[in-house]
Amino acid sequence: MQRELEEPPGDKPPQLSSRRAAVWEAVPDALWNDWHWQMRHRLTGVADLKRVLTLTGEEEDGVAQTLQHLRMAITPYFASLLDPHNPNCPLRRQVVPTTQELVVSQADMADPLSEDHHSPVPGLVHRYPDRVLVLVTDQCAAYCRHCTRRRLVGAKQQVMGLEQMDRVVRYVAEHTEVRDVLMSGGDPLIMSDRHIEYLLARLRAIPHVEIIRLGSRVPVYLPQRITPELVAMLRRYHPLYINIHFNHPAEVTPEVKQACGRLADAGIPLGSQTVLLRGINDCPHIIKRLLQLMLMIRVRPYYLYQCDLSQGIEHFRTSVAKGIEIIENLRGHTSGLAVPQFVIDAPGGGGKVPILPQYLISMSDGKAIVRNFEGKICAYSQPEGYRSQCQENCACCQDAERCAPQGVAGLLQGNAAVLGGEQRPAEAAVPVHICPAMLHDAALQ
Ligand SMILES: *Cc1c(COP(=O)(O)O)cnc(C)c1O
Repeated sequence: MQRELEEPPGDKPPQLSSRRAAVWEAVPDALWNDWHWQMRHRLTGVADLKRVLTLTGEEEDGVAQTLQHLRMAITPYFASLLDPHNPNCPLRRQVVPTTQELVVSQADMADPLSEDHHSPVPGLVHRYPDRVLVLVTDQCAAYCRHCTRRRLVGAKQQVMGLEQMDRVVRYVAEHTEVRDVLMSGGDPLIMSDRHIEYLLARLRAIPHVEIIRLGSRVPVYLPQRITPELVAMLRRYHPLYINIHFNHPAEVTPEVKQACGRLADAGIPLGSQTVLLRGINDCPHIIKRLLQLMLMIRVRPYYLYQCDLSQGIEHFRTSVAKGIEIIENLRGHTSGLAVPQFVIDAPGGGGKVPILPQYLISMSDGKAIVRNFEGKICAYSQPEGYRSQCQENCACCQDAERCAPQGVAGLLQGNAAVLGGEQRPAEAAVPVHICPAMLHDAALQ
């Protein structure tokens, strides 16, 4: 037994840190591992990039032209992961601009998610009934070329001021239906510990705020930021969740593993959000490997996003079919824990809409016919004479006032007969029984 645990002779020792580009080889470890040093030495112009990469003509023009409108920044740590000679390197394409970013296609929109329309207070988006999104800064450790908020991000280079934070906190305090606050941006984790704590403490003091979430790509672009001090502070504000933007298996380095390990050890549940990107990860095998690696560093896959319609990123977009094909390659084929929800963040503020392969093939009163990942078709027998006992057991259902869900859930409850177009008031609505199977079929058309 003992022998099996030993490393086989001749094996390389485990790799503890990623490679460094030649220009930074002489930098002492203490500086290299200091996130402030990494931020100060980011690559922000053509000359910087040329010290690390051989640029193609298209990249060189792209950087020069794009920088007139948008920001570029790459941390030395992340720049060292890029292939210096291959412009198609999947990490390089995410951070080095090209002239394609200046192409605005017909479908493109400046604000595809209509976030500006759902913003009752600057920096706060209230789109869903019980949760809000707070854009706490417009800065990031590095700027993703496929960013959905590219019109805002990096534009003013500022962190939300205290006065604006106070307005956001007041809004949340006044809206007792908000039980979940999601801090994003920009990237909240590029703010100082003190600044982050100020917001966390104010939000935590609001009794109806049940959970706080952070959305970040800092663990990928700047894992040095995840210091023991930061983590010790964050863990005082539980229940706190962090979702991390990961797109490619090559992003999972020893440094990233250590950063995620620290967060997970502090009891912070970690999730991943991945954007489906043409030529970067639009392949079932790449995504499957990425998601399996996520689980190994204790990150639970959460969302796989169809790329948004933001201006200048059509060259990154895939068909919706590619996402369905990827899910088809995951469900049943690998751990269910590794399977994220594939979503389209619907244009015009439609919100996130899940997209799935069809698993429910047909239904009758007695049977639900399903197919599995192998294509096997099975019948599930439904219980005879089923009626929900919810009305008797659930306090919420007995209280019709409180129990008035919006949308299709409201239709199911008989609060209305029609959604969209001209609506009759709920009182006048004829109670209708809508067969869930019919709804399902309608969703197919
Ligand atoms: C994504 C998003 C949320 C959070 O959505 P979940 O599905 O709960 O993760 C909240 N508000 C806005 C505006 C969002 O875009």
